[in-house]
Amino acid sequence: MTDLEAIPDWDHCQELARALDAADQLASFRDQFHIPQHTDGHECIYFCGNSLGLQAKGVRAALEIELEHWARLGVGAHFNGRIPWMPYHELVREPLAELVGAQAPEVVAMSSLTVNLHLMLVSFYRPTPTRNKILIEKHAFPSDRYAVESQIRFHGFDPETCLLELAPGVGLDCLSSEQITQFIEAQGESIALILLPGVQYYTGQVLDLEAITRAGREAGCRVGFDLAHSVGNVPLDLHALGCDFAVWCSYKYLNAGPGAVAGCFIHQRHHGAELPRLNGWWGHDPQTRFLMGPEFVPSRGADAWQLSNPPILALAPLRVSLEIFQAAGMQRLRQKSLKLTGFLLQLIQEQLSGWVRSITPSIKEQRGCQLSLMVEKKPESARDVFSALGDRGVVADWRAPNIIRVAPVPLYNRFIEVYRFVEILSEVVRNRCV
Ligand SMILES: *Cc1c(COP(=O)(O)O)cnc(C)c1O
Repeated sequence: MTDLEAIPDWDHCQELARALDAADQLASFRDQFHIPQHTDGHECIYFCGNSLGLQAKGVRAALEIELEHWARLGVGAHFNGRIPWMPYHELVREPLAELVGAQAPEVVAMSSLTVNLHLMLVSFYRPTPTRNKILIEKHAFPSDRYAVESQIRFHGFDPETCLLELAPGVGLDCLSSEQITQFIEAQGESIALILLPGVQYYTGQVLDLEAITRAGREAGCRVGFDLAHSVGNVPLDLHALGCDFAVWCSYKYLNAGPGAVAGCFIHQRHHGAELPRLNGWWGHDPQTRFLMGPEFVPSRGADAWQLSNPPILALAPLRVSLEIFQAAGMQRLRQKSLKLTGFLLQLIQEQLSGWVRSITPSIKEQRGCQLSLMVEKKPESARDVFSALGDRGVVADWRAPNIIRVAPVPLYNRFIEVYRFVEILSEVVRNRCV
């Protein structure tokens, strides 16, 4: 079951790609982005939005406005200027909440992903003598693994016994939903926290967050998600989902720039609850924050987890980016994404069978923008293939030992680029993998 429609033979695929671009209602959004150029002066085929999203053209002006405020008003820019800095982070709250399907007070844009993960673990990983384990996946993003491992040690427990890492079944590339839920049903009593990705960074698999949350909560575990590869990629409905927390970064599909201000979701049921939390002055109730009193009075909602006053120059690109997402609409983006990545999958299957295989699940519910392509024929040449793609102006992403991740994104990629990419990849592997 692949959900893919029949496509014409290769000779007609270029025409088909052009027709799909012509019919694409989101096509003009590409004009809002700077597309990196290859050395030959042509635009690159940029399939790397899963690693660093492109710069929106509006970012420069947004930054210049804040630089100008700073130059002209100094400290006064906190309260004056077109957009005063004091409540600046509140401007991104609504669009961010919309994007992740949360109530506005449940989200906050702050610090960076791994920092936020630690802050969430402080509140939601509360190990007891009998329930002290954390469930992650075997190939978790290293930073997530380091974070949970260090938290386990910080609480005086041993990662050897407390860190559970779920691996795909023998011969399989991905975890199955049943495997995850069955594991939770069997071991849930000892698990304090489940931390899984929304989209697995290596395989591109979209996990069934609903099944995981349900199983986790039924077993009495806290459930948190790392949405680094999900935000701006697949629609999310975090409030209804009912997970305890989620964290994400904003420089991948969200295009908010290198090291951009990250985001956090904390479910409403925890607001005002007696959770342990690390506090800073920006988490203080803004009504009385500047009385500068010794007692910490938390803000309502996710804002209570803020520590520092936010970096305005880093928030400005996020604000620009979220406006673009609002204009495009996540549902429309998802529909184009399914077609765009589906087209890629289909061309790979038909043109490169036996040479290159996608390890990303082919059913549409389990894939987002990204396909992880495994060079099967002569895997030892995979690195060569990747370099040759770069020489031809394809920007993709390399993961040892033989995976090339490619992510056509619906905001700025086109069907014709998918066609060209497969054309280039076919030439390259037929050249290097013999
Ligand atoms: C990109 C990514 C990170 C990066 O963490 P930073 O704190 O933003 O450097 C962490 N975890 C996952 C799952 C990621 O995909």
